[in-house]
Amino acid sequence: MKAFSARFRGARTQSTHSLDEVIYRDAEGGLLEVEHDMEALSQKPAAEWKRLFEARSGSHQWPYASGIWGKKEWVLPGIADEDIVSLNEGWTNLFYAKRLGDQLGLKDLWVKLCGNSHTGSFKDLGMTVLVSQVNRMRRLGVPIQAVACASTGDTSAALSAYCAAAGIPSVVFLPGGKISVAQLIQPISNGSIVLSLDTDFDGCMKIVQEITQDKSLYLANSMNSLRIEGQKTISFELCQQFGWEVPDVIVIPGGNLGNVSALGRGFDMMLELGVIDRKPRIVVAQAANANPLYEAYRRGFDKLVPMQAKKTEASAIQIGNPVSYERAVKILKKYNGEVYQVTEQQLADAAHRADLTGLYCDPHTGVALGALEQMVDAKKIGAGERVVIISTAHGLKFSEFKTKYHEKELADVQSKYANPILSLPADVDKVRDALRRRMG
Ligand SMILES: *Cc1c(COP(=O)(O)O)cnc(C)c1O
Repeated sequence: MKAFSARFRGARTQSTHSLDEVIYRDAEGGLLEVEHDMEALSQKPAAEWKRLFEARSGSHQWPYASGIWGKKEWVLPGIADEDIVSLNEGWTNLFYAKRLGDQLGLKDLWVKLCGNSHTGSFKDLGMTVLVSQVNRMRRLGVPIQAVACASTGDTSAALSAYCAAAGIPSVVFLPGGKISVAQLIQPISNGSIVLSLDTDFDGCMKIVQEITQDKSLYLANSMNSLRIEGQKTISFELCQQFGWEVPDVIVIPGGNLGNVSALGRGFDMMLELGVIDRKPRIVVAQAANANPLYEAYRRGFDKLVPMQAKKTEASAIQIGNPVSYERAVKILKKYNGEVYQVTEQQLADAAHRADLTGLYCDPHTGVALGALEQMVDAKKIGAGERVVIISTAHGLKFSEFKTKYHEKELADVQSKYANPILSLPADVDKVRDALRRRMG
C-alpha cells in the first residue's frame, strides 16, 4: 500500500511545499492548498472508509474520539498521535428543526450546531489541526515562538485555548470594541497576549500579515489552509450523520469565506473517493452591511471589490475584504451556488423566531436563517428537500445581541419576537392578574 501523505500546493504557481515549512503563499501570491495523495487514499474502497469512520465514532482511543481526528487520514495523515492537540472537537449535534420547518413549510430542515464546541464556535475544528501541526514543528526544531491571528472574536478564542492546552504562546489582534464580552474574555483567560487595535478586522488582518513576515510568529488565520483541512470535516460529519446521504441544500454564513471553501472541499474529497455520488447546493448568506461576495455574485463573480464593512450584529462576518474569495467562488460555481444578503432586521428576527422553536441562535446563524426565509419566499426550495443550516457559534457567546433584542434596544431593528420580562411586586394577586393577561 502507498502511504497516505499531504503537502502544500500553491494556487498560482503550483509549487509544492512540505507542511513543516513556515509558508502561506506561493511566489506569485497565491494561497496554498493542502493537497492529499488521493491515489493513496483511493486504495481503500469507499465502503471500507465508511466502516473505519463508523468504528471510530465514540471511540475511547486517543485521538479518535474527536470528530476531526477520527478522520485523521483525510485531514493530516502524517502527524504522530502524540503531537495532536485536541479538545474533543467535532461530533456536534445535528438538530432536527421540526417546528421551525413546519412553520416555513419545509419537511426536512436541520441545523448543524457547529458552535457546540469547546470555545463555542466552529473555529475549533480548524484550530485543532493548525495547532497540532505547530506542535509537531516545534518538536522537530522549527523555531516558532508563538502563533498569531487577527480575529473577529471566535478565531482568537479557539487559538488561545488550543495553544494554552499545548503550552504554546499565542498573540491575538482584535478590532477594539467590535467583539462580544464572551469572545474577549476567552483569550484573556487562556493567557494570550491580547492586542486591541483601533481598527476593524481587515485592519487587524493587514497588520498580522506584516508581523508574521517574521517566521518565528506563525500565522493562524484561515488563509493558512491547515485550518480549512479541519473545517472540511463538517461535510464528512454531516453526511455520516445522515447515514452517508447528501443533503439537497446547505446554507452557511460567510465572512472571510474560509468556511464555505472548507465545506466545498469536504464534498470534493468525498466525491473523489466515491463515498458519496451527488452534490448538494451550497448557499452563502452575508450580512447586507458586509456583503462583498453578494455584490460580486450579482455581477456574475467578475471580481472582488473590497469594501469598508459596516457595523453588523453578526460581528464575526463584518469583513469587507475576504481572504478566501477566490476559493469560495470556485466552490460556489461547482456546487450550484447562490448568495443572499440579510438585513439587521431579518437576521435578528430570524434568529429569535428560531429560538422560539428550541434553538438558541447567534446572529450569524440568524443570517443563514434569514437567507433561508428569503429562499422559501422565492420558492427556491422544494418542501421535501433536505436542508441544512450551518450554525457557526453558540448563542451564549452573543448575550448582548440577544438581551438587546428582547429589550427592543437593537439599532435599526423592531423586535418582532421580543419576549419582555414581567417585573412585578411580590404580590399574589398582581402575579395572578399579570399571568392571566399574558396567557390570554
Ligand atoms: C468565523 C465565523 C464565521 C465566518 O466564517 P468565514 O470562514 O470567515 O467565512 C461565521 N460565523 C461565526 C460565528 C464565525 O466565528
